Amino acid sequence: MLEVNEVSKVFSIGDRRLEVLKNISFKVTPGETVAIVGPSGSGKTTLLGICAGLDIPSTGEVTLVSVRLSSLNEDDRAYLRNQKVGFIFQNFQLLPTLTALENVMVPLDLRGGESSVHEKAASLLKRVGLGDRMDHFPSQLSGGEQQRVALARAFITDPSILFADEPTGNLDGETADEITELVFAMNRELGTTLVMVTHNQELAEMTDRILYLKSGELVEDKLLRVS
Ligand code: ADP
Ligand code: MG
Repeated sequence: MLEVNEVSKVFSIGDRRLEVLKNISFKVTPGETVAIVGPSGSGKTTLLGICAGLDIPSTGEVTLVSVRLSSLNEDDRAYLRNQKVGFIFQNFQLLPTLTALENVMVPLDLRGGESSVHEKAASLLKRVGLGDRMDHFPSQLSGGEQQRVALARAFITDPSILFADEPTGNLDGETADEITELVFAMNRELGTTLVMVTHNQELAEMTDRILYLKSGELVEDKLLRVS
């Protein structure tokens, strides 16, 4: 499903060279749930972006759903993401001028030519508990509700793999737990592979394996259960 092979990432700022990821290798099998854990600044978001084809590594190779990402240009990577990848972010990243329903429809609208987009979006919003809030704008929704919309949007394309970057990091404890349960439940129902960045050790323990990052290095790859 995902193969990361000797990936490094270097940012150059002026004459300073910042090595953010150092020779990272791991594999994720179909249906597996994986947590990426590490202190702030350890490279988690950078690694997730490279895995999802949002960013490119300085050296090394990522193979996502059997496609070598280095063989694709930016447009082809965007196409692959739209076809195969879901993404949820800490700050939801909903479009403020669109309603909840319209936000969920966006990824399928981008594909074009699909009928029943409206029905599918509505049914997903019902699944995440927002059946009566479809016409509301993000500013009219709480953080937890916005993340539910983002979750529906991530799943509307039936992605093979879902990447989540601290999806509950901006939510209070109870809301965070509800969203976490929803992410895992939908992931199970739809048979999606999940790669999730988290600060939360308890959350990480709910996955099949934990990757520990420290200063850009993968210091431990801990298998908890076989999916
Ligand atoms: P984490 O998600 O674990 O907090 P990040 O991947 O966001 O860590 O960042 C890792 C390091 O890379 C940090 O020191 C950050 O400042 C740096 N960094 C991230 N993106 C860029 C960029 N575009 N240019 C320069 N430095 C960056
Ligand atoms: Mg981060």
